[in-house]
Amino acid sequence: MYDIAVVGAGPAGYSAAIQARKRGKSVIIIGQNTGWLSRAERIDNYPGMPGVSGPEMLRVMQEQASAMGAEEREGLVHQIIPMGGSFSLSLGANFVEARRVILCTGARQPRLLPGEAEFLGRGVSYCATCDGRFYKGKHIAIIAKGEEAIYDTNYLAGLCARIDFYGVPDPEIDPHIIVHSEKVTAITGEDRAQALIADGEERRYDGVFIFREAMALSALLSGIETEGTFIRVDRRMATSVPGVFAAGDCTGLPLQVAKAVGEGCVAALSAAQEL
Ligand SMILES: Cc1cc2nc3c(=O)[nH]c(=O)nc-3n(C[C@H](O)[C@H](O)[C@H](O)COP(=O)(O)OP(=O)(O)OC[C@H]3O[C@@H](n4cnc5c(N)ncnc54)[C@H](O)[C@@H]3O)c2cc1C
Repeated sequence: MYDIAVVGAGPAGYSAAIQARKRGKSVIIIGQNTGWLSRAERIDNYPGMPGVSGPEMLRVMQEQASAMGAEEREGLVHQIIPMGGSFSLSLGANFVEARRVILCTGARQPRLLPGEAEFLGRGVSYCATCDGRFYKGKHIAIIAKGEEAIYDTNYLAGLCARIDFYGVPDPEIDPHIIVHSEKVTAITGEDRAQALIADGEERRYDGVFIFREAMALSALLSGIETEGTFIRVDRRMATSVPGVFAAGDCTGLPLQVAKAVGEGCVAALSAAQEL
């Protein structure tokens, strides 16, 4: 059990982790190298590091957090479940437990497909490792974005009888998988997901797997309040869910490194104060 789990390995996340370690708290950062800073060619408006590239700034932050004793794990957190005083974070088939959570997930918010939230856990899954075995010998659809999806898709190819893949074709995809270029517009069903709509046509499946590079907030943490696409926070960076804080681009404008780092600091101090 960690004191604090930081979700997101960008400037807000590293800043939170560094502050939490300064307060002597055990910290795990969970994230992927897909944040906005990794795409910034040159940063001129962050004090102390003029002209640095985004990837270089991230590298220095990561090294500092690691040198101060923050643990880091690569991956996408699919869901955060409050356990009464602590939280369980699902990460593929694994779970991480922490007393407090700081969300530093950036500004990118995927839009859910109609039917996706309704059938989540009932025919719609985000995790091949967790749920793949339920579809052994079945016919499934995969809706995918991002390179990581190929690994999960090929894993499912070893279990399922037939797979229809909706996403960008990739030479690494198992040749038995049927690749479709049509866009999926909805998932339909009665008690559970039974079909999807692509090209205006209903196509029936036993289950639908969705692989994206980010999670929608409503799927990540049930009941968290938002303002538009941003997480609602108070001046302590506390969210509407007790024990959960948020920092950086995910809380709103301006979308800048300096603001992300400042909010990460405040969130970590607030979380540490509660422990
Ligand atoms: C091209 C470009 C140029 C820019 N130039 C500047 C500039 O010059 N100056 C400036 O101040 N700002 C600049 N920015 C903005 C700056 O990069 C962002 O404001 C900053 O990165 C925000 O930090 P963050 O930690 O909030 O989010 P991000 O850096 O976006 O990091 C979010 C992290 O969360 C992870 N994540 C998301 N969901 C999950 C999940 N469910 N589980 C696990 N991990 C998750 C992501 O993988 C990522 O690691 C630029 C951005 C871009 C794209």
